[in-house]
Amino acid sequence: MDVASAPAAIELVALTKRYAQGAPAVDSIDLRIGSASYCCLLGPSGCGKSTTLRMIAGHESVTSGDILLENRNITLLPAAARGTAMMFQSFALFPHLSALDNVAFSLKMKGVAKAPRHKQAQDLLERVAMGHLAQRKPGELSGGQQQRVALARALITQPRVLLLDEPLSALDPFLRIQMRAELRRWQKELGLTFIHVTHSQEEAMALADTVVVMNQGRIEQVGSPHQVYNAPATEFIARFMGGHNVIETHAGKVAVRNDHMLITPSGDGVDAMFGIAGTVTDVEYQGTYVLLGLQAQDAGGAKGVSVMLPEAQFTAQPYATGDAVHLSWAGDSAHALSA
Ligand code: ADP
Ligand code: MG
Repeated sequence: MDVASAPAAIELVALTKRYAQGAPAVDSIDLRIGSASYCCLLGPSGCGKSTTLRMIAGHESVTSGDILLENRNITLLPAAARGTAMMFQSFALFPHLSALDNVAFSLKMKGVAKAPRHKQAQDLLERVAMGHLAQRKPGELSGGQQQRVALARALITQPRVLLLDEPLSALDPFLRIQMRAELRRWQKELGLTFIHVTHSQEEAMALADTVVVMNQGRIEQVGSPHQVYNAPATEFIARFMGGHNVIETHAGKVAVRNDHMLITPSGDGVDAMFGIAGTVTDVEYQGTYVLLGLQAQDAGGAKGVSVMLPEAQFTAQPYATGDAVHLSWAGDSAHALSA
């Protein structure tokens, strides 16, 4: 079966959410999310990520359109009957319950007897390497351990699709990077489909098989991290992903990665060639790289652009604030942007 005809874990068809008068929060989006893949919904605050996730979860009604899970239309099903589960941030654990009882909680609500629900919860805690801490309360666990309990709690309903809304945002930066690696590993080990909402392009690129970039209730681009970063479809994406210069050439608007920019001192003979003139405004040492900020003159007027130079290249040919330079790029480094 080819990819196009394989059943998607989740398929959204013209999915729309309108809260009140005005622009819809989610505006007729179409999306197929492959089975056993890690999908990140990425975009700035207010672009409709959480609304999309909550509609998939069944925590928010749909204005129009459909949601299919493995070809089954779940649009009108109650949350518990969908085959999805939401993993909440670790602080959503019940503080007065042990890790075991937190994980077993939804089975208790379903009326499952104590012995079998504790057995299932213990099994899941073992799976996330937390079996030995089953009797601890959340307050007696580290942030990372709490996060694993939260995962086990979400998995106890045996979902096909796990939904995560900014699950790492409450963690400190160090733990966030550690936990995102764990999430990625769990997703692969469990063979489940994860749909993870984030406003961090770095987090999405680190985690996702598929990045879905959203803007104002719409999907702007769907692709691998490599595709979205290397060939941003729109100016919005080029700017949102960062690390790109948006440049107006006489042929149209293009995005060029700042580590793909070519820079030479002005007046060394290449000025007459293709490119634009610029002046260095900032020099920032970043270890492996040196980041130059510049004012450049493109067809749209003076603009701030940046150039990322490998440290060795900068050492061989240093630049300082005020230097006049010539900027250019190889033809295949420039990606045309649609409006
Ligand atoms: P994101 O998760 O990308 O930050 P949301 O899905 O939370 O965005 O919100 C999308 C838009 O819908 C925003 O304009 C937000 O203000 C609006 N919105 C979200 N939830 C509600 C609600 N319950 N009632 C009314 N408007 C809402
Ligand atoms: Mg949100």
